[in-house]
Amino acid sequence: MRLLLATRSAHKVREVRRILREWPGIDLVDLDAAGIASDPAENGLEPFDTFEENALSKARYFHERSDLPTVADDSGLEVVALGGAPGVRTKRFAPDGEGLSGHELDLANNRHLLRRLDDRLLGERKAQYVCVAALVTEEGEWGFRGEAEGLILGRPQGRGGFGYDPIFFDPLLGKTFAELTDDEKNDRSHRGAAFRALAEHLARTARE
Ligand code: IMP
Repeated sequence: MRLLLATRSAHKVREVRRILREWPGIDLVDLDAAGIASDPAENGLEPFDTFEENALSKARYFHERSDLPTVADDSGLEVVALGGAPGVRTKRFAPDGEGLSGHELDLANNRHLLRRLDDRLLGERKAQYVCVAALVTEEGEWGFRGEAEGLILGRPQGRGGFGYDPIFFDPLLGKTFAELTDDEKNDRSHRGAAFRALAEHLARTARE
């Protein structure tokens, strides 16, 4: 089946393509390949307080524009010592990140989080990445949630991944997400878990 992946993030497209490799029946199409030009309205699609609502809002919008079965994800980081912040505001966490994008924005966000946790010992640095993949088709709407648990380190380690990966430490593997290979990250990540659940749902429905 053709499935539209509704994101403008090249990193996410790359990760999700790799995760879904194991389901060759899913023909993943990105927004460029579907010919869906960027529109200013896209900036206002995630005003909600939950990952579920934001992901669904994006998936509905792009389903309407494409007429294709559509999946959109919303993801972020929840830090226990910060009462679950930055949560749905993860992308725009750093006050000095306004106007920045890509790697510059990631650096500002990481710096800000390190400062906020400055006086915390390792035991107080628990965090989880969350990803919700929302699926909208003619038949209905579904949400698939994935989580990955880790610790926020005191300084960055590794050059891979994106966002907060250089400071997100996976205790089981003893490395940050930025030190993992693409396949290792997908095995352990919130996005891997959410999109595998989505793919299993699609495979099940196709068999019925
Ligand atoms: P969104 O799903 O595009 O709204 O992503 C929110 C933000 O969460 C991103 O801009 C990243 O800063 C962070 N984030 C989400 N997933 C990951 C990941 O796999 N690694 C690192 N940062 C992530």
